[in-house]
Amino acid sequence: MQMPAPDQMVIGRKDRIVARLQEVLPRDAVIHDVMETRAYECDALTAYKCPPLCAVLPETTEQVAAVLRICHQENVPVVPRGAGTSLAGGALPTADSVILGVARMNDVLETDYDNRFVRVQTGRTNLSVTGAVETDGFFYAPDPSSQLACAIAGNIAMNSGGAHCLKYGVTTNNLLGVRMVLMDGTIVDLGGAHMDAGGIDLLGVVCGSEGQLGVVTEATLRILPKPEGALPVLIGYDSNEVAGQCVSDIIQAGVLPVAIEFMDRPCIEATEAFAKAGYPMCEALLIVEVEGSPDEIAHQLDLISEIANRHNPVEIRQAADADQAARIWLGRKSAFGAMGQINDYMCLDGTIPVSQLPYVLRRIGEMSAEYGLGVGNVFHAGDGNMHPLILFNANKPGDLEKCEAFGADILRLCVEVGGCLTGEHGVGVEKRDLMTTQFDPEDIEAQLRVKDVFDPKWLLNPAKVFPLAATQARRTVG
Ligand SMILES: Cc1cc2nc3c(=O)[nH]c(=O)nc-3n(C[C@H](O)[C@H](O)[C@H](O)COP(=O)(O)OP(=O)(O)OC[C@H]3O[C@@H](n4cnc5c(N)ncnc54)[C@H](O)[C@@H]3O)c2cc1C
Repeated sequence: MQMPAPDQMVIGRKDRIVARLQEVLPRDAVIHDVMETRAYECDALTAYKCPPLCAVLPETTEQVAAVLRICHQENVPVVPRGAGTSLAGGALPTADSVILGVARMNDVLETDYDNRFVRVQTGRTNLSVTGAVETDGFFYAPDPSSQLACAIAGNIAMNSGGAHCLKYGVTTNNLLGVRMVLMDGTIVDLGGAHMDAGGIDLLGVVCGSEGQLGVVTEATLRILPKPEGALPVLIGYDSNEVAGQCVSDIIQAGVLPVAIEFMDRPCIEATEAFAKAGYPMCEALLIVEVEGSPDEIAHQLDLISEIANRHNPVEIRQAADADQAARIWLGRKSAFGAMGQINDYMCLDGTIPVSQLPYVLRRIGEMSAEYGLGVGNVFHAGDGNMHPLILFNANKPGDLEKCEAFGADILRLCVEVGGCLTGEHGVGVEKRDLMTTQFDPEDIEAQLRVKDVFDPKWLLNPAKVFPLAATQARRTVG
């Protein structure tokens, strides 16, 4: 993965830039010591690292605007950062860039149960949004597995999803409005406290724009009343393909579970060793969760079990109460950590039409044998959002490159079968060079023109999302 050479003129002006930033921020909010900047050298895609020029931690929208104004005048690239959990390298700095972290901006600004929204500063973690309203019987639906750590800022930038997004939609379906600061320091409000604000849907453009258009400082989020109850059923199969077919059949039958999660044998074995959730040893496991009143839950679980039984499951285990439900979820929620204990891995994020699951799973198995690298599959199967985890050894020369090539082939396969490069993790640097697989030059040019409008100097989060060759002329303008 290539990054452009940093601007030495900017690096040479570091002292002056830091001094100007210190004029508008508290002293401890400007981190410029070389050792301390290493804390910001990467996000959760740890294969790529580069300490920034400096990092700033503002506490208000006005401070963000003041920082951006200075960086705009000084032609300094800015990389917005939430909690740094991006798996796509979205918050990876360059040596000439300022990291603008919103971690200190984590207040709840307004809660309105009558109109069902909460307004927060975007440094607030995903889980603590629900934490702020759950005692009053409400919750915020999008639930990335990283929800304990990741911030609403990154969720908006990546249009993040999670297990329960099958029913409730991803971030864009639960975002009502944002306050955002443009690169020149202008503060804009998009959307409002209600669905579907008037005018062009600029909120829809901003959600999922990966820090390319502005720094989002406040978000108005839709909250929902907690359902009466929810219960999962665990279904084991002797084959990945059969499990994939079962998912496809559940969706085709018109049942709408809140979640359908999939784990294959490598993941089952790793999570059993790690979390001891009591899963059956089989080739593939599905966790299907439904919610509603006790009658609704019973009805839906019966339908799902009937469909599952048509495919000769190894086991069907319906949770009868909250304890059994937590046990079923325990392994799935520990899966990423468990896989990390046994190997280095790269987590992919392609999305495919659900009916293609059996074929794509088989092809991934074949490619795994061809590349000689193991793969574990754990993903949101209900909406076709695959997360193959390619296992490799970071200390073995050539293994990372082999893993990257294998990952690229899997993502090309996703596009080939009618899906796309990313379901929820975003493009970042990870899939940047694959964008030409999905978009022709005219499509990419149209997207670049959107950025031209918001960030004419191309200073925000440069060298991400779009292939370097397509953006080079624009980046040098900055
Ligand atoms: C173990 C694990 C599990 C995960 N599971 C899921 C999952 O289930 N679903 C899912 O969708 N993702 C998942 N992720 C990926 C990641 O957590 C999400 O992409 C998350 O939304 C990133 O949030 P963050 O605050 O950490 O953002 P960061 O990593 O800090 O940044 C992500 C992107 O957002 C931009 N950005 C940050 N702040 C702002 C801002 N204020 N304004 C504009 N742009 C900004 C950055 O420039 C970058 O491009 C997982 C990650 C890990 C490590």
